[in-house]
Amino acid sequence: MPEYDSFCRQFSWENEKDSLEGLPGGGINIAHEAVDRHVNSGKGNTIAIRWIRKDRSFDDLTYADLKVQTSRFANVLEKLNVAKGESVFSLAGRIPSLYIAALGTLKAGAVFCPMFSVFGPEPAFQRLGKGKAKVLVTTTGLYEKKIKQLLDRLPLLQYILLTDAKQDIDDKVLSLSTLMKQASDDYVIKNTQQEDPALLHFTSGTTGMPKGALHVHQAVLTHYVTGKYVLDLRPGDVFWCTADPGWVTGTSYGIIAPLVNGVTNIVDEEEFDATRWYSILEEHYVNVWYTAPTAIRRLMRLDFKPTDRYDLSNLRLIHSVGEPLQADEVIWGEKTFGRPICDNWWQTETGGIMISNYATMEVRPGSMGKPLPGIEAAIGEVEAEAIRLLTKPGEPGHLLLKTGWPSMFRAYLDEEERYKKCFKGAWYITGDLAKKDADGYFWFVGRADDIIKTSGHMVGPFEVESTLMEHPAVAEAAIIGKPDPIIGALVKAFVVLDSGYEANEKTRLDIKGFSRKKLGPAVAPKEITFIDSLPKTKSGKILRRLLKARELGLPEGDTSTLE
Ligand code: AMP
Repeated sequence: MPEYDSFCRQFSWENEKDSLEGLPGGGINIAHEAVDRHVNSGKGNTIAIRWIRKDRSFDDLTYADLKVQTSRFANVLEKLNVAKGESVFSLAGRIPSLYIAALGTLKAGAVFCPMFSVFGPEPAFQRLGKGKAKVLVTTTGLYEKKIKQLLDRLPLLQYILLTDAKQDIDDKVLSLSTLMKQASDDYVIKNTQQEDPALLHFTSGTTGMPKGALHVHQAVLTHYVTGKYVLDLRPGDVFWCTADPGWVTGTSYGIIAPLVNGVTNIVDEEEFDATRWYSILEEHYVNVWYTAPTAIRRLMRLDFKPTDRYDLSNLRLIHSVGEPLQADEVIWGEKTFGRPICDNWWQTETGGIMISNYATMEVRPGSMGKPLPGIEAAIGEVEAEAIRLLTKPGEPGHLLLKTGWPSMFRAYLDEEERYKKCFKGAWYITGDLAKKDADGYFWFVGRADDIIKTSGHMVGPFEVESTLMEHPAVAEAAIIGKPDPIIGALVKAFVVLDSGYEANEKTRLDIKGFSRKKLGPAVAPKEITFIDSLPKTKSGKILRRLLKARELGLPEGDTSTLE
């Protein structure tokens, strides 16, 4: 990016759009911009995805390969009568079929919804049901363990495509490889329009079950712009986003943004492993690396300097997102890699990076940076009638974004009221609290609600509490995020036992095991404390804030609403 202030003045979304191709019929399609456009312009031989297996061997898919594979997948969907706007879900680790399914679904004009493979059956059920999944792409192992038991409860789910099955199991559970072999390489991409739904990402709320944030094909413009100006992606680059596509970062930046910018995208099948990660950066000549604070804190614990053991000279830029990146973590990056780690901020609803530190700008350790050119961010009070903007530097308030950017979510699926509540006048209320300093840098203060960020993953208390209460011993439950030096926050439950159950280790382990099985290890509580009663407001709402203050020995604040 050129000099920030002047670039902001000259920036226009319309001008940036000229760099995209659009469809012959006048529409726009994310997969066309990410894949076919590059093949059409002679870059078919560039490696699009380098997939690194657990054993560290790797496979390359060029843009030309990806074009063929995604067209085949789109043809498979046609054969299964998946219509425009219907939804295709995935539940898989980071395997090539997931990436092919995502882009193939977009080509076919259907809506793609990725789920985190570590989810247990309950979170998967909530999402498949609410998202009216027609097709699910998954592996035989995950199907057997998590999905099979849900089929009776998911009448709309018509096909399950198993990525690793050699043959069909029945009329509903099919072998994806067989279907792909039968499908044609040619596919005319559906003429999707700017506002046609493309991606569905579930995100947690404080109340109620997860909500499905719906994004449209026009979002590709934000992916393109942020890939170019924030992640500084240039022709010939190798880029690695460590996020899983089960979360929005892993889709927007683990699939779309790098491909739209025509670079080589690294996909590692394995989970975090410090030395493996450094080896990948070295062996695959990674230029731009996009990761998260939990991983950075884990790397900081190693007792050697990575550059003493690994040649990381290709690494030009490091970015981080998902949770607050502390000043000492930014500075550690500077000392360790010779460049600061650039923090940036966004969320499921924004579809792409909104606030960031940029390579060409002074990085302020501990700050999220400045708004993306084309984005207006502000701090304000949300009052009954309108937003009152706070302009005094350093004053904390709600973080707000002026509506209208291309990747803004267009709905919470079938929850219009919940969606409307996020807006007041021209402003989108992000749910985060922040402040802005005199030089225009934004600083994260905290969440305005009880949402928990654990290892960078969002967990809604309600979802966990509801599952805990299905256990016979649990009368009531409340969840908080307990600060943790590595994973940011760990999910902690306070449980009121039903009469007849004893508050002992056996009960605790039993409830823990039950919730782990239902919710999966990424969401289930890691700590459980038994309590006689939960603090509630006079209207019966659980005061999680108070539980948290008591747990941490902090002042209890205003308790006037306490029952
Ligand atoms: P998600 O929708 O799961 O991507 O989570 C978005 C939320 O993560 C934001 O609303 C913030 O609460 C938090 N978050 C994301 N990036 C940052 C950051 N750079 N600093 C602090 N919090 C962040």
